[in-house]
This record gives sequence, C-alpha cells and structure tokens, in this order.
Amino acid sequence: MKIGIIICGRYQDCGGGKCFRAMRERVGGFARYPQDEPLEIVGYSYCGGCPGGNVEYVPAEMKKNGAEVIHLATGLVVGYPPCPRIRQFKEFIEKYYGLPVVIGTHPIPWKYFEAHQKLSFWEKMKMEEMAGELMHEDKRIMKEYN
Ligand code: SF4
Repeated sequence: MKIGIIICGRYQDCGGGKCFRAMRERVGGFARYPQDEPLEIVGYSYCGGCPGGNVEYVPAEMKKNGAEVIHLATGLVVGYPPCPRIRQFKEFIEKYYGLPVVIGTHPIPWKYFEAHQKLSFWEKMKMEEMAGELMHEDKRIMKEYN
C-alpha cells in the first residue's frame, strides 16, 4: 500500500518519528494493514497551517507518486484543540481526489488521551466515529507512545 501522510501545521517541524514507528509496528491508524503487506510512504507534508490551504494541493503530488490512501496524522485528533476541519479535509480529499482518507497515524499517547477525555468538546467532535482505531487502541500501546 502506498501512503501519503498529512500532518497538522502546528507540528510542521515534526520529524515523523512516531508515525514511522507506528507504520513499522502496525498500530494506530496502520493497524488496518496486515503485517505482511508492504507499506510505502510516498508523500509526507503538512496542511499549510490554519485553515489548511495545502490540503487543496498536496494530495495531487501524493497521488502522482502513487498514493492509494491518505492518512491524516494523529496530531489533528489530539492537538489542543483538535483540528476543527478534520471532517471537511476527509470529505474533500475523498471526493475531489478519489483517495480514501484514514484519520490517524500513530497511537494517541496515553497522556493526551487522558487529557482530552476531560474536555467538554471532545465528545461533541465524535472522535469515536472518525478515528475509532485510535480511540480503541490498547492502553498499553498508548502508554508506549507517551
Ligand atoms: S488545526 Fe487543522 S487546519 Fe489548523 S494547522 Fe492543524 S491541521 Fe491545519
């Protein structure tokens, strides 16, 4: 599977260590792929900063490089606050570029998960619906990604 990753602009300096580790370990958003399926990152970029203008363009290059799926990084789900545009990004990329979008890359670090569960707006964002793989991750794995 050839994968493009788009991260949140607030973390644009991130080297992607957790995302690449999660891909190797097949956890978080990558748990959906069988262990023996080769995974290749064909693009890694950021949204361009709020309101995410780069989401309009960057999937084009990823698609040209063979991307079959786009992952929106876990930082969009558990930033403070989470990105308010996740749903729009997903729908836009899927409809405009015809590429499926998975919400999540690495497991949510446990300390972030605990903190977000105390936030009143977290439930309203229906993260369960959008990022079920992350929300139901084994607690032990989440702690390993603290
Ligand atoms: S919060 Fe959303 S739009 Fe803003 S920088 Fe992060 S991913 Fe981009």
